[in-house]
Amino acid sequence: MKTETEELKDWDVSGFGNDLLQWYQENKRDLPWRRERDPYRIWVSEIMLQQTKVDTVIPYYEKFMALFPTAEALAEAEEETVLKAWEGLGYYSRARNLHQAIKEVKEQYGGKVPDTKEEVHKLRGVGPYTAGAILSIAYNKPEPAVDGNVMRVLSRLFLIGDDITKSSARKKFEAIAAAVISKDNPSDFNQALMELGAMICTPRSPACLLCPVQQHCLAREEGVQEQLPVKAKKLPPKMKKMKAAIIEDEEGRLLIEKRPEKGLLANLWQFPNMELEEGSSEDPVAESLKKAGLRTETEQASCFEVRHVFSHLIWEIDVHFGKSMGFTNEQKFNESRLKFVTKEEIRKYPFPVSHQKIIDYALKGEG
Ligand code: SF4
Repeated sequence: MKTETEELKDWDVSGFGNDLLQWYQENKRDLPWRRERDPYRIWVSEIMLQQTKVDTVIPYYEKFMALFPTAEALAEAEEETVLKAWEGLGYYSRARNLHQAIKEVKEQYGGKVPDTKEEVHKLRGVGPYTAGAILSIAYNKPEPAVDGNVMRVLSRLFLIGDDITKSSARKKFEAIAAAVISKDNPSDFNQALMELGAMICTPRSPACLLCPVQQHCLAREEGVQEQLPVKAKKLPPKMKKMKAAIIEDEEGRLLIEKRPEKGLLANLWQFPNMELEEGSSEDPVAESLKKAGLRTETEQASCFEVRHVFSHLIWEIDVHFGKSMGFTNEQKFNESRLKFVTKEEIRKYPFPVSHQKIIDYALKGEG
């Protein structure tokens, strides 16, 4: 395999850029975040698009912009309102980091998203890809924006067999992207490369015959485009058996709990939900509630099952109905992250998708 600089020696950088940009001008999709170059809006869209398809993102983006049209509006929002707007989109740390970073923008830069590499990089949750996307798309600076999509395209164009899950490979692709980016129109160039990856140079069966840059593509020349990029296999997700309980008090209110401040689904709400230890006869939900000052009883048989696949983990949740038998320590309960809410109120809280399904089940027939 040649090095990136050797590859670029025989490569028609400007011909490639022209072909790519012309195709983009004629074929780009009309996406809501492409209608203007507001760095705040571009930033939000880029964060939403990480690990999520465009079609899924559009309605979330539009709702988010209606609620928080400016960086200022987002900075002033409560975290729970932001999480509620993000509900269902997954990877909630993205939303929390974005919110924190926008607060930094308000405090340190008067609400204007900074336009230097140094400053953008310092913002919470902004890695090299997002920084490159903001600087190039919004500010038209020739900064590479390399994500998995762009690495796939570049690995094919330059016939690069490095494992794209390694950070050394990312650095190599960033160096190539920096060398080939259009200096006249970096904003469209980066978007065009992303668009090519989304529409033509797709993970499986790339549409080489329709590809505007096929004559520049070394993998196509060798007929190995389907074997690239090289990507080490991920470990299969770990399975966790969980028990969740729909606990009602005598007034018909439901018990919910705010998840811990850190880690998976941080600060989202859920029904009491604990991992089931294999071989243990103990009820982990009742035990944890007892420690929080509340006595409960749940039915033996589960009434509903939910399965949720995260990137590294699968939750198989057995859901049980139960009831509150009163406090053993009310003060402790009030200091905990648990609370009873009415069935009308419950949907105001941000829940992960798995527990939204439990709400739907619990409220079935309640209108
Ligand atoms: Fe991708 Fe094929 Fe175009 Fe090469 S020719 S960039 S493999 S779609």
